[in-house]
Amino acid sequence: YATGPSTLREVLLATEAFGDRTFLVYESERMSFADHLRTASGLARELWDRYGMRPGDRLAVSMRNYPEWAPVFWAAQAIGVIVVPINAWGTGDDLRYALDDSGARLLVADAERVALLRPDFAGVPVIEVRGADPEPGVRAWADVVAGLDPEAQLPEVAVDPDDDATILYTSGTTGRPKGAVGSHRNHCTNLCNTALNLRVSQLLAGTADAEGPQPGTLVTFPLFHIAGLTGLGTTTMIGAKLATLYRWDRARAEQLVRDEGLTGVSGVPTVMRDLVTGLAEEGRELPGLTGISLGGAPIPPDLVGRIDRTFGSIVAPSNGYGLTETTSAVVSNTGADYVRHPDSVGRCMPGADLRVVDPSNGQPVPDGTVGELWFRGPNVVRGYWNNPEATAAAFVDGWFRTGDLGYVRDGWVHVVDRLKDVVIRGGENVYCAEVEAALFDHPGVADVAVVGVPHDVLGEQVAAVVYPRGSDVMADEIREHAAQRLSAFKVPEHVVFVREPLPRTATGKVLKRRLRDELTAWAASSRS
Ligand code: ATP
Repeated sequence: YATGPSTLREVLLATEAFGDRTFLVYESERMSFADHLRTASGLARELWDRYGMRPGDRLAVSMRNYPEWAPVFWAAQAIGVIVVPINAWGTGDDLRYALDDSGARLLVADAERVALLRPDFAGVPVIEVRGADPEPGVRAWADVVAGLDPEAQLPEVAVDPDDDATILYTSGTTGRPKGAVGSHRNHCTNLCNTALNLRVSQLLAGTADAEGPQPGTLVTFPLFHIAGLTGLGTTTMIGAKLATLYRWDRARAEQLVRDEGLTGVSGVPTVMRDLVTGLAEEGRELPGLTGISLGGAPIPPDLVGRIDRTFGSIVAPSNGYGLTETTSAVVSNTGADYVRHPDSVGRCMPGADLRVVDPSNGQPVPDGTVGELWFRGPNVVRGYWNNPEATAAAFVDGWFRTGDLGYVRDGWVHVVDRLKDVVIRGGENVYCAEVEAALFDHPGVADVAVVGVPHDVLGEQVAAVVYPRGSDVMADEIREHAAQRLSAFKVPEHVVFVREPLPRTATGKVLKRRLRDELTAWAASSRS
């Protein structure tokens, strides 16, 4: 017997209590919890009867943040079918790779993704969301829904907490995508922790009121990423409203928060920076908003100060540090704690153990010393789908090696860089996140990424790629700013301005490999 849900099937069944409350809001469309439960139950029946899907089978999903995500995800979870979310920013090849690697038996995708798979649809039956005319091998979502039995009961399936629930492909900024296999227990641990965190931050801000208005969150993370699934799962579990957008649009986001009385917004730092900067510069408020959740990529500390200056203690910022393999946040920092320690990702989530080790020998390092962060606990996935080599390399004696470097001081966890991104300049380690944080403080910097470029004598030099705010900022000024805040060896030798926003993944991470390649070519040509 568990005090909270231990399978996602239980999470769905418990939504019966939320009745006609609004669950999903997308553009002008909305769906209540009751309607959602009806659709998800009917769809589960359809998957079972028509498609013959059984526990352990894989259902792939690839689409923008359309509300159809919710019934598809929950229908599958209710019958033990594994959901394979596929990056909707990817190419046809990426899609085919994930479909093939996971052995998916059915794909639910929006029209843009279906178009990438013509003419053979990778040999998988397709349900097309928001498409035009159905064609052979493709059924329209609207037809599927129209044919569902409104009285359908969920098939009786015994789902175990340790059954596989999802296969999430890591975005591939480090190479070939690997499918992290998350269990129901992993997800339920994450949802309970997130809900607890939310509750604690409301209690701290004095806004927790059991009888108060329904909470609601605008989730701007993609739903195919673990951070987006956390938003979907948490709102479902606690009976909150989930609002999504087709793409980030500040004016539309503000309007949604106001019109729908949303209490939270979650997203990657670049998106949240846009929201907060816009509100501050244009002097607008968002009454009712009590939380801003940041994650997915390093959060520049100045952003926390900005949130605090814009909203004061009414809005609690929170930082969730985690990976696909830790089923979202495994360390978090919330509210006043975060404002006091804006450079820390916080403290470990309940149940998670953290070890900081020397990556060369796996031995723990003393407090305050930089090492690789290793985690274990009920939120850590069991390994990678079909990939024993990658699993053996990343999971050691029950511990997951994150590939992130960091340190702990007085219980506060700090992430300094990804191991592969550290710049080694003349034997000294330069942690990019530290240099980026210093540069973000400069008013002329809208976005910045720091990478290493090869150098004959030093091995590497430090380069900052800056997307400027306005046009009058100069490279010397940026270097001067850095020199006042950082040791001399960390000050970028090269400051390169770009006209376009920096290339980022769907979860806000700068594509450093691409920048490094471009800068390396540029450095080589300027030498010759
Ligand atoms: P790949 O490992 O191939 O790059 P990915 O980028 O999709 O794939 P994710 O699991 O989405 O992998 O990202 C996890 C990484 O994101 C972490 O290892 C860490 O480097 C970074 N990250 C996520 N949240 C934070 C945060 N709050 N602060 C600092 N870094 C973060």
